[in-house]
Amino acid sequence: MAKKVKEVSVSDALRVRPGGPVRVADLDPDSAPAFPGNGKKDAPDAMIAMSAELSDLQERLYAAGRDNPDAPRLLLLLQGLDTAGKGGVIRHAVGLVDPQGIEIKAFKVPTEEERAHHYLWRIRNALPTAGMIGIFDRSHYEDVLVVRVDGHIDEAEVAKRFDEINAFEAELAASGTTLIKCFLNVSRDEQQQRLLERLADPEKYWKYNPGDVDTRLNWDAYMEAYGDVLTHTNTDVAPWYAIPADKKWYRNWAVAQLLIEHLRALDLGWPAADFDVEAEIARVRAS
Ligand code: AMP
Ligand code: MG
Repeated sequence: MAKKVKEVSVSDALRVRPGGPVRVADLDPDSAPAFPGNGKKDAPDAMIAMSAELSDLQERLYAAGRDNPDAPRLLLLLQGLDTAGKGGVIRHAVGLVDPQGIEIKAFKVPTEEERAHHYLWRIRNALPTAGMIGIFDRSHYEDVLVVRVDGHIDEAEVAKRFDEINAFEAELAASGTTLIKCFLNVSRDEQQQRLLERLADPEKYWKYNPGDVDTRLNWDAYMEAYGDVLTHTNTDVAPWYAIPADKKWYRNWAVAQLLIEHLRALDLGWPAADFDVEAEIARVRAS
């Protein structure tokens, strides 16, 4: 791969444009914006090229949080239909950094206990602590997606939840959490291919869920619900990024790059020693 000449910001390239209504149909699931190479063959090198910096940045974040409960934290929120690649992103992009600095939480159909609370209760309980990178595999957005598509809430409730979510995320941002909200945008055809691949391979049966077909049967309703989410919860303090997800190699690279760009923006140094370095050197030498 040629040396990187100029790096285009993936955050800029993938940020969902604020303002007018967003339609998922207008977002290309098969493109590769801001990728520095020439397609798939350059992806492994591109991942290697970023991993040292990503590790270094993550270590700075972790170090900042060690003695300081007010240190920044980062929350990578992954949304997308089945097969969009939430698991793949966690394995390949998040997997580049030290697992000790990562807190992963997957949100499933709410348990009885969770259902007894407000939908943000389980989310608040899973937020990353100082110095950590939290990963949400699904999130409170399910409460305006599947819950809406399945007809459990009316339009007035959807609008109310958008307001609540915006207020909640603004509060998170104000208290030092950088949010990276990713919509993994897989096309209908690619999803079909991926489901068929799961059914063609006994080693992948475990990934297949017959319920995923019901989601496909509601494809248009999901796209509309996602469009509304991207329209109404795309704030400056908690913006949405639309990740083209038909190319797995691009999807993984793009999310890793988003992590890098947001960590860089925190501009973290290293914590100063809270001991006398010279004195400690002398003590270690003499020991
Ligand atoms: P998976 O991520 O494939 O393991 O599936 C998790 C399932 O939980 C998906 O079908 C989601 O739609 C569902 N789910 C997650 N959060 C909620 C929620 N708040 N209400 C209803 N279903 C949910
Ligand atoms: Mg699934």
